[in-house]
Amino acid sequence: MTTDFTMETGADGVAIITWDTPGKSMNVMSIEGFRQLDGFIDAALADEAVKGIVITSGKAGSFAGGMDLNVLAKMREDGGDDPASSIFAGIMQIHSILRKIERAAMDDRNKGGKPIACVLPGTALGIGFEIPLACHRIFAADNPKAKIGLPEIMVGIFPGAGGTTRLSRKLGAMAASPFLLEGKLSDPKKAKAAGLIDEVCDDPLAAAKDWVLNAKPADIVKPWDEKGYKMPGGAPYHPAGFMTFVGASAMVNGKTKGVYPAAKAMLSAVYEGALVPFDTALRIEARWFTSVLLNPSSSAMIRSLFINKEALEKGANRPQVPDQRVKKVGVLGAGMMGAGITLVSAMAGIEVVLLDQSKEAAEKGRAYTAGYMDKGIARKKATPEKKEAALALITATDDYADLAGCDLIVEAVFEDPKVKAEVTKKVLAHVGPDCIFATNTSTLPITELAKASSSPEQFIGIHFFSPVEKMMLVEIIKGRETGQVAVAKALDFVRQIRKTPIVVNDARFFYANRCIIPYINEGIRMVAEGVSPALIENAAKLVGMPLGPLQLVDETSIDLGVKIARATKAAMGDAYPDGAVDEVIFWLADEGRMGRKAAAGFYDYDDKGKRQGLWEGLAAKYPVADEQPSLTEVQHRLLFVQALEAVRALEEGVLEDIREGDVGAILGWGFAPWSGGPFSWLDILGAPYAAERCDALAEAHGPRFACPELLREMAEDGEAFYDRFAPQAAAA
Ligand code: NAD
Repeated sequence: MTTDFTMETGADGVAIITWDTPGKSMNVMSIEGFRQLDGFIDAALADEAVKGIVITSGKAGSFAGGMDLNVLAKMREDGGDDPASSIFAGIMQIHSILRKIERAAMDDRNKGGKPIACVLPGTALGIGFEIPLACHRIFAADNPKAKIGLPEIMVGIFPGAGGTTRLSRKLGAMAASPFLLEGKLSDPKKAKAAGLIDEVCDDPLAAAKDWVLNAKPADIVKPWDEKGYKMPGGAPYHPAGFMTFVGASAMVNGKTKGVYPAAKAMLSAVYEGALVPFDTALRIEARWFTSVLLNPSSSAMIRSLFINKEALEKGANRPQVPDQRVKKVGVLGAGMMGAGITLVSAMAGIEVVLLDQSKEAAEKGRAYTAGYMDKGIARKKATPEKKEAALALITATDDYADLAGCDLIVEAVFEDPKVKAEVTKKVLAHVGPDCIFATNTSTLPITELAKASSSPEQFIGIHFFSPVEKMMLVEIIKGRETGQVAVAKALDFVRQIRKTPIVVNDARFFYANRCIIPYINEGIRMVAEGVSPALIENAAKLVGMPLGPLQLVDETSIDLGVKIARATKAAMGDAYPDGAVDEVIFWLADEGRMGRKAAAGFYDYDDKGKRQGLWEGLAAKYPVADEQPSLTEVQHRLLFVQALEAVRALEEGVLEDIREGDVGAILGWGFAPWSGGPFSWLDILGAPYAAERCDALAEAHGPRFACPELLREMAEDGEAFYDRFAPQAAAA
């Protein structure tokens, strides 16, 4: 049997419990792991030869990465018809183990007990920081790469193994809020400065051993176990504390718009917990945690943002071909996208040849990396050496001969098939026969562009989003003839630059733009119908979209919208469905209101370019109708129009994996992250209700809402997308 924990007691009387999950680069906690830890704690507390205990990790550079999320799934499964009781009991079991560590066999009057210290060789996340929080003193190695904190909120849950209760009592609700509500992570020095840990030293194990052998009885009593404990910053019934909670509540609701259950539940756990003794607070935390785990939004977020995102990053859909990691990449076009692609490649240690029409233009693109690194240096996130190392990897040129030796080309020149074909041909004359050629086009079909190449099997789309250094999604597009090596090359490249890939087939607008354009268009359509623009924008935000459709079109620019509309119309002819949308944006373009960059669009902007309110002139042309639709109606129009496009992409085979559809939607264009993505959202609604809503929307607003055959069939069979298409990923 494999063991996660081992214990050894030295002649000095210190029992060292070492966590070392077999077969993993970082420790993760499992049910069996908890059982073993519990057993060793019991044994060490009972053994008279043991004077103190140190819990540490056998992994170099880390303590633990968190909980094995299957633990949570298992607790739910074990509960059968009553998952709430089972989850609650499971969490209370974890609390009792950690509380045992914290009390360390002290009696009710805080007498007796053994000092327990925790040693963090590096990264300590989630349960990997909740265990240390239960210990009496935390020692960390001076490892600036280490990340310490409680990131649970990022995947739709909150720290539920006492982290919420302990950290808010340790720091006070206000000081704990960035770590709890934003999942802020810190390196050891910052963690110490913030009071998350106690010591940072070169040899934390020696320091911890020394500490447990010399600790005084008072050193091992937690403040909340002392008589007269008061929460730092004041409890909710204290005037100062009261204001903290009023502010936090407003902040949480402002930020989450009420659609993320975890943040609200966590705040309730902190507030209610602060009113009662510690052990009752843990029970309250466990209740709220249970309620969050049972909320479909939380399981959908964990599934998409944690499990499936990681699976895609690790190559879930990578063809079985040998390692294709990129050594030297040629980037064509040093504009906005080319400069960004150069930056992320150089940061990943890849040699880059950046080519533009003139050497000056190419140098300007290279200077983008210098500027980015300078900002990093100013914020102490980078060093001058790192900047030099990145710049040394980039050659700026206008000479195609410099591309010799590149094993991947990423083309980001003007969005014009003729220009693209010309550069493709020029490149192929200078690179070796194995070089893969990728285009970053956002609208042109890959199969058509591949015609410029003599080896279309080596031609592929690698579609980045802007700004490249910030956007985590990369859409890889297979042309009709794209081969497996090209797909593997693109995936290995995306992995090198640490982004998340999805792989789709070639079709108009691929996947992401195909879904986001209808969202923007639906917003504009509603303006033309006389729906209040404020209602449209707020409805979008209240359903969890990061930007309303009108703000989004202002950001991406009205002229880009006009350009795409013209090109789409030319390609589709009579079948073109968006005349009503064009009327509005063509008029705005005529008015010179090109969006944010022109400081005028659907919104007004001040002299500094800061967005003000919606432009009042809109109402003169499109008066707001007396009767307005309900909030839900507007929200359903805005979400269904995207989700149905995702379903059609699946039906047509553009999308091959719904996990990619969900992860891509959240990372690519911010599709209501609380829902887990469009397929998860439809599963939460249930296919029968979704189909019913489609019928009603189609009747009221037109065939773009017509229920896809696939969804109809699933509604009749009462099926869910994750059961039908990704059963292995259904239970998060
Ligand atoms: P851009 O206009 O900022 O940059 C294009 C660059 O290509 C310019 O520096 C130009 O000098 C250079 N160039 C043009 N013809 C060339 C030639 N024959 N040889 C060498 N260099 C040449 O454009 P961008 O926004 O960076 O977009 C580039 C590509 O990326 C387009 O295909 C676009 O559709 C796509 N894209 C853009 C975005 C975006 O948000 N801007 C997002 C995804 C994809």
